[in-house]
Amino acid sequence: NVVMERIQRRKSLQLRNQQAAWQESNDGQSMMEFRRSLPAQKERQSLLEAISQNQVVVVSGETGCGKTTQLPQYILESEIEAARGATCSIICTQPRRISAISVSERVAAERGEKIGESVGYKVRLEGMRGRDTRLLFCTTGVLLRRLLVDRSLKGVTHVIVDEIHERGMNEDFLLIVLKDLLPRRPELRLVLMSATLNAEMFSSYFGGAPMIHIPGFTYPVRSRFLEDILEVTGHRLTPYNQIDDYGQEKSWKMQKQALRKRKSQIASVVEDAVKAADLRDYSPQTRDSLSCWNPDSIGFNLIENVLCHICQKERDGAVLVFMTGWDDINTLKDQLQSNPLLGDPSKVLLLACHGSMASSEQKLIFDKPEPGVRKIVLATNLAETSITINDVVFVVDCGKAKETSYDALNNTPCLLPTWISKASARQRRGRAGRVQSGECFHLYPQCVYNVFADYQLPELLRTPLQSLCLQIKSLRLGSISEFLSRALQSPESLSVQNAIEYLKVIGAFDQNEELTVLGKHLSMLPVEPKLGKMLIFGAIFNCLDPILTIVAGLSVRDPFMTPFDKKDLAESAKLQFSCRDYSDHLAIVRAYDGWRDAERDRNGYDYCWRNFLSAQTLKALDSLRRQFLFLLKDTGLIDENMTTCNKWSRDENLVRAIICAGLYPGVSSVVNKEKSVSLKTMEDGQVMLYSSSVNGKEAKIPFPWLVFNEKVKVNSVFLRDSTAISDSILLLFGGNIQQGGLVSSFALLI
Ligand code: ADP
Ligand code: MG
Repeated sequence: NVVMERIQRRKSLQLRNQQAAWQESNDGQSMMEFRRSLPAQKERQSLLEAISQNQVVVVSGETGCGKTTQLPQYILESEIEAARGATCSIICTQPRRISAISVSERVAAERGEKIGESVGYKVRLEGMRGRDTRLLFCTTGVLLRRLLVDRSLKGVTHVIVDEIHERGMNEDFLLIVLKDLLPRRPELRLVLMSATLNAEMFSSYFGGAPMIHIPGFTYPVRSRFLEDILEVTGHRLTPYNQIDDYGQEKSWKMQKQALRKRKSQIASVVEDAVKAADLRDYSPQTRDSLSCWNPDSIGFNLIENVLCHICQKERDGAVLVFMTGWDDINTLKDQLQSNPLLGDPSKVLLLACHGSMASSEQKLIFDKPEPGVRKIVLATNLAETSITINDVVFVVDCGKAKETSYDALNNTPCLLPTWISKASARQRRGRAGRVQSGECFHLYPQCVYNVFADYQLPELLRTPLQSLCLQIKSLRLGSISEFLSRALQSPESLSVQNAIEYLKVIGAFDQNEELTVLGKHLSMLPVEPKLGKMLIFGAIFNCLDPILTIVAGLSVRDPFMTPFDKKDLAESAKLQFSCRDYSDHLAIVRAYDGWRDAERDRNGYDYCWRNFLSAQTLKALDSLRRQFLFLLKDTGLIDENMTTCNKWSRDENLVRAIICAGLYPGVSSVVNKEKSVSLKTMEDGQVMLYSSSVNGKEAKIPFPWLVFNEKVKVNSVFLRDSTAISDSILLLFGGNIQQGGLVSSFALLI
């Protein structure tokens, strides 16, 4: 021990010298200059004091003020200065992989180091950290899994939970666990960081923990709502181009007439909007006053028109466009690339910013472009709070974000674009005022904004709780309901019951809500239980290759594209991959295998083009497959050399069986009527198939059952993707025979 202490002491002194040397070097000084310009710097001392004197501190401050990159670094620096560098261990959690990685890279660069020295990161299936890493950025999920094996976080001196205002499920969960842990670890320090001012809730949750606010400065941002935007960009807005030239009318009377005409057209936009409203999760009163248009049709053109307007008419400055997801970002990007109205293509730098972007692209997002070049960043709500792009002057806000919502009553999770909250809209607007006064184009009428919810509902209250319930059990946190009742805001008991019921049905819990062997394995795989179950079965039955593809496809999206104007062609292209085996999942496997062969012959791009496949998705799928494989090796479910794990990969019926094992209880019965197929599920009664499903066009399906991954409730319930299975597969692989669940399901379905 004495030797150990001496080594650590020496190490600490060494770290202190290193840090000082960097701060005095030329590069270090200019970095320090930038850092000192951030608002957080002014609070450095008071933050550090509060943290040393209190076990829990809540820090709030405007996005971009330096919470994420500076505060953990202040703690690290002060520990190193106090010669405790070798013994401190700081963990800072991020809700998303991409921010954990990019922030750790940034902080390492600010310290003049490579990633993996004193600063590192760890996200699911990936990490960069060394023996001497003292500040670790990780996803919240990673810390939760660490708690699984190390319940008191031995050796950790500081835990910083970032972006708590987002109220992500993992963060809310972590807070319950940490609240329990604190009394057992009195020397552990906890810092909660939030981008909004409503820190009181968190503070009172932790018995009145002190709050520190970092005052920030932003320039004023002008808000323009749809009414206003139509005025500004008038003549380029489809379909309102007929009325563009009222300004040139000579007579005052004609001008006035034209103006009135335009006003009535604007009114009709709003009216159309009312009709097409997407009102799923609003109260009836809200529904009445809320109006919208279909986000897929008018949205793209509107955004495009606004961007053209900015490029042609407005001053210099980067543009940040908030979209709902990876796929519409790509669609818009393609559309914009061929739009001459944006001006000289060499003068426009179009970038995408979303959770799965490459790190080379990431760097471009932060860099200032060459003079005269307009940077346009198409982003998901990642850019709302976790990433700050300093030179943004214009923000275009589509008003929506994809959010997983979950309706406990019909037990259907969905990831759909929904209206953002007022808080999000404000946050998006604020992104335009970092360096000078800015402008925000909200692509919805003011009346829509007025009825936005104040804040987004916490994730815990709107998503299925299955993975969470598994984790609660594997962390041995006692009764699920009791545990969740201690949350900041507890979920409905019906949601909790549904999740527990589901876990029993799939065989992860026994009747006493305790983990089964399957449940234990599932809790170790950081994927949804159904995908985890497929992976486990794929490994056990030596049928891994196709299952990896299917699981990867289900966890991102399938690679089939359906462009609006070529829907039929695209659907028949997909049909070719089905080879009449009545399975969307097997179609993914064939499409992927074909692509892999084509890639080998360097024909991948051509192959995708011919078959309406997305090369990007296939690449994403490919890398996910590799991650899952790594995961299975890591948990010991397959052996390192993979000698036998593909022995039965060509057995199509086995693949169907494993799909069934994972997707059960997502089953519908098939009854072939004279010219059509009638489908029923236990919960919903009659259901329909999407036309993009390979089974969607069949007049007859020669199997008694379909298993499906996802159902979507529009007017009726639609199954998105499905695989046909036989009686014996359902009997042997559907759910958990011992519990009699299966027999009763048969009774209900037949
Ligand atoms: P907060 O967490 O309070 O929102 P951050 O610590 O993320 O703020 O960011 C502080 C500042 O550092 C911002 O001005 C941001 O633009 C800058 N910054 C953050 N990451 C990078 C990066 N990778 N490259 C360049 N600048 C960055
Ligand atoms: Mg931050």
